Amino acid sequence: MADTKPAAPPAEGGSGLDLDENTIETNWTQVTDHFDNMELKPDLLRGVYAYGFERPSAIQQRAIMPIITGRDVIAQAQSGTGKTATFSIAILQRIDTTVKKTQALIIAPTRELAQQIQKVVIALGDYLNIDCHACVGGTAVREDIAKLNEGPHVVVGTPGRVFDMINRGALKSDSVKMFCLDEADEMLSTGFKDSIYDIFQLLPAETQVVLLSATMPPDVLEVTKKFMRDPIRILVKKDELTLEGIRQFYIAVEKEDWKLDTLCDLYETVTITQAVIFCSTRRKVDWLTTKLHEREFTVSAMHGDMDQAQREVIMKEFRSGSSRVLIATDLLARGIDVQQVSLVINYDLPPSKENYIHRIGRGGRFGRKGVAINFVTTEDVKMLREIESYYNTQVDEMPMNVADLI
Ligand code: ADP
Repeated sequence: MADTKPAAPPAEGGSGLDLDENTIETNWTQVTDHFDNMELKPDLLRGVYAYGFERPSAIQQRAIMPIITGRDVIAQAQSGTGKTATFSIAILQRIDTTVKKTQALIIAPTRELAQQIQKVVIALGDYLNIDCHACVGGTAVREDIAKLNEGPHVVVGTPGRVFDMINRGALKSDSVKMFCLDEADEMLSTGFKDSIYDIFQLLPAETQVVLLSATMPPDVLEVTKKFMRDPIRILVKKDELTLEGIRQFYIAVEKEDWKLDTLCDLYETVTITQAVIFCSTRRKVDWLTTKLHEREFTVSAMHGDMDQAQREVIMKEFRSGSSRVLIATDLLARGIDVQQVSLVINYDLPPSKENYIHRIGRGGRFGRKGVAINFVTTEDVKMLREIESYYNTQVDEMPMNVADLI
């Protein structure tokens, strides 16, 4: 493999988890900079090129190969740099398609993300006859069971439904050899951690574990010691996390009451391409949507209180571009990939600093241009400063010509 460079010595010895906040220490530096040199099955390689990829992204160059070897891997890279394809390609390479059993289990925090991943796996595996099932809440249990009984090669799901299906014996875990957590820090945080452990207990002892995320706080990494064996760690540094292609601005709205008018003034700018507007609560999403509808602006809305069928319609419309402005909670902060989104508005600042980078990462996918606009009340100024210092970045006041940047 001419393009595979030898590994440099590990950055440090010992436990390796002596962490700078929000980053892991890389202990793997091998790079394979062409898909051709990854020794992929010919039909997988075909699928990768047919999907439109030409060269692997930085994280793909580093993480696909080690995952294929079967080692436990933790991969951290900024939003929109191709982590989904990283684990999907590696999984497709490791699956034996002649065996009709579930061999890989992928868990994601939201139904929308799980369904998006399923589509990527199916598309990349187009020439492999791959069967990949999305096992998510809000869908008919009976159909889920029937589908799982067929032994899909890959199952991608949300924790609750997956656990339920394993317990019922519908999802047979005895042939699972890969367990992959997308948005791993979220999956291992308080809300999800227990269900992830519960699922993990039901998998064969030798199951490979792969974790991916844009952010990886130290406490989460500490947790990984409990169930990962000598993992390969691949990361980008926090400084590099601030999405280079995304220009970040604020508007000093002073008072909460002035946000709505500010947004209405911006509406033309917002609809230049596609935009996501983040609010802090489900109620706020509903409220803002109603207010904008009253003023005859076309927007759609999405949050976790809506039923699954409705969520699916909203996502479909947004992905197809027939709806252009989506108001959402942090349900949409992670992973969702709509390439045309070039503007993210934080109507409310995010509740956690981590989510800031996930949210603004919905724009500027795979090196495209993106703009993030933060509405900042007087009380929010402190939080914005914290975000700036945390990411070592600068958020400028929004210029008049912002439309030119989108
Ligand atoms: P992440 O999971 O890191 O946030 P995604 O996997 O969603 O990012 O990828 C972001 C976008 O980049 C997707 O639209 C994906 O199709 C595209 N992409 C990923 N890898 C490549 C590649 N090697 N070449 C071109 N586009 C890519």
